[in-house]
Amino acid sequence: MNRVRCLVLNAALGPLDYRVPDGMEVEPGSVVECPLGPRTVIGIVWEAERLPGTEVPAEKLRPLRDVLPVPPLSAPLRRLIEWTADYYVASMAGVARMALSSGGALKGPATMTEYRLTGGMPERLTPQRLAAMEALEGEQANIRELAGLAGVSEGVLRGLVNQGVLEPVEVDCDRPYDEARPDFAHVELSPEQAEASATLAEAVRKAEFTPFLLDGVTGSGKTETYFEPVAEALRMGRQVLVLLPEIALTENFLHRFEERFGAAPVLWHSSLKSTERRRAYRAVASGSAQVVVGARSALFLPFRMLGLIVVDEAHEVSFKQEDGVRYNARDVAVMRAHFEKVPVVLASATPALESLQMAESGIYTKIDLPSRFGGAELPAIDTIDLTQEKPPHGMWLAQRLVDGIEERLARGEQSLLFLNRRGYAPLTLCRNCGFRFQCPNCSAWLVEHRFSRRLACHHCGHETPSPNACPECGEPDCLVACGPGVERIADEVAERLPDARVFVATSDTLNSPGKAAEFIALVEAGEIDVIVGTQLVTKGFHFPELTLVGVVDADLGLEGGDLRAGERTYQQVAQVAGRAGRGSKPGEVLIQTRHPEASVIAALAAGDRDAFYSAETEGRRHAGAPPFGRWAAIIISSEDDAEAREAANRLGAFRPQVDDCQILGPAPAPMALLRGRYRYRFLINARRSVQLQDVIRGWLRQVDHPPGVRVAVDVDPYSFV
Ligand code: ADP
Ligand code: ZN
Repeated sequence: MNRVRCLVLNAALGPLDYRVPDGMEVEPGSVVECPLGPRTVIGIVWEAERLPGTEVPAEKLRPLRDVLPVPPLSAPLRRLIEWTADYYVASMAGVARMALSSGGALKGPATMTEYRLTGGMPERLTPQRLAAMEALEGEQANIRELAGLAGVSEGVLRGLVNQGVLEPVEVDCDRPYDEARPDFAHVELSPEQAEASATLAEAVRKAEFTPFLLDGVTGSGKTETYFEPVAEALRMGRQVLVLLPEIALTENFLHRFEERFGAAPVLWHSSLKSTERRRAYRAVASGSAQVVVGARSALFLPFRMLGLIVVDEAHEVSFKQEDGVRYNARDVAVMRAHFEKVPVVLASATPALESLQMAESGIYTKIDLPSRFGGAELPAIDTIDLTQEKPPHGMWLAQRLVDGIEERLARGEQSLLFLNRRGYAPLTLCRNCGFRFQCPNCSAWLVEHRFSRRLACHHCGHETPSPNACPECGEPDCLVACGPGVERIADEVAERLPDARVFVATSDTLNSPGKAAEFIALVEAGEIDVIVGTQLVTKGFHFPELTLVGVVDADLGLEGGDLRAGERTYQQVAQVAGRAGRGSKPGEVLIQTRHPEASVIAALAAGDRDAFYSAETEGRRHAGAPPFGRWAAIIISSEDDAEAREAANRLGAFRPQVDDCQILGPAPAPMALLRGRYRYRFLINARRSVQLQDVIRGWLRQVDHPPGVRVAVDVDPYSFV
């Protein structure tokens, strides 16, 4: 071959043809350096017939510059990139970039320099230096990463290097990982677990595409069950990918994995250090990384010899990526398994309706684990009607719930209160003039965080110190907090039960694996009586002494009114309820609500999952919503409101007329301003028979926009803001 077509990592460019210089060996999938004007861009050699482009005469072709020293992207991964771009109406370059997400891994030296504290002191100890030195205790990373950790400029750290306070360390980026051994520890499975895991292991041996829905109640031992097929893949010398929704909270998983396989798995997530990224990426590509545990971005890693994919807590919303290429990792995982010809296991106690429907129609094989491991009972669930059992004035917990916590305290057991709201109060207003604190960049109120004495926007991260006086009327001490967040609930518990040791568990307090591990240790040591937490505490934790779960406000999730509000509420409450009574002591769940008659709440209270799912299924069928019909959103945004509105109207004028396909909008999005961008939205609802992506692509192609306008397509949207 002396000419090749390349996919270059630049969304604005189509495929480009190049000449292969004499002596250079390339094949489809090779990662190459392509000349582009005076610059060099990374490209991937692709099958020319799959990337239509204009044929350039041979004499005009420029030669490739170089082939990078990484294995070529495999054909299944190339097919996955094509499929993802096609299905989510994204550019192939954008998807390919996710597969080459580790620039440092592609080239560069195999050793890198990191820095760590020496224990020495600088000549002049400024407050900034002191703070940096405190923050970097026990850390080792490159200067840029350390600067990020310490919150100081790189210049400050270079100064510390010059003074010998930080010292360089050479790191071998390609050192091998410890070997995971399939038969390191033996686990006695219950008969139903054993049957399930035998079915999965058999599928691994067959090495065919087989999608499974592992539908097991909370505490049934889904993890132990899928560890056996993981072991089977290892015995065959194949690699395994396990996707977890919240990579910060994998402590418990890592611990169990090590006990079972005698070594830690390879981690992959967005906050890996560059040396770790390189090491993991290259080990995945060479095949020496046996089991990769990662966040959704791990889906596009260049596995050499995949044998199994597991998506744990597969119903989790965080598998949906909400910026860049808007894909659903659960669905892309199934497609990757399809192209790799391997089984995929979606594990959940509360599967997404779409997944259940796939099982119903025979496309997925459903495996049930209907009871908890070790004979633990599922907790008893009861509702508290807040219109009848009103909490005391200015408080949020009904007396019955507080009594329940008090009983647990007396018995030395633990309680968990769930409220999916970080901070102290979701809205702050002035009693004097009515002023409300709003984010300058978003259509959202600022949330008071009392621990850190700040008002913060949960959408863009904007923060301001909590003022004492109203910025509008100048009146001092007139600001009132409206509504509860977890911090306020924690205060209430402390006030009503002064002996209780309360811990607030949110992404603010458990923002690193280390903090999460500390928290787990405290609970396990019985040093916490009441956990007040957000959705972070709904999954994964296994605390045998936790016997009471209180849902502070079950109606909260139903308010937004989006398509999946009912399903999400069901999943969250069922998951958090699943934290109760996992040991030998029975659990109790109390759900506070103003609408005990709502079908979701009633189904939860009755423990009737089937009733919930069948009502939800009928509702969706009626509304033409997924999985019976399809939705897509198109968001037009700009920093200039008029520009965004005009662009949306211009696009609206070209709206296609297609049977069985309804296009609503443009209308200001519910979050009309987000991170400084004004947003207008189209919603498309179509029958399954419609080639939705073709319709969208054909439509968008007809209109050009000024450079300040962004057009985002969201196929199968989860968020309707
Ligand atoms: P799930 O993910 O289904 O909620 P887990 O996998 O977390 O359940 O299992 C619940 C608890 O039961 C864990 O502490 C786990 O270690 C334990 N467990 C499950 N199966 C077994 C088994 N076969 N042998 C020993 N312990 C088990
Ligand atoms: Zn904001």
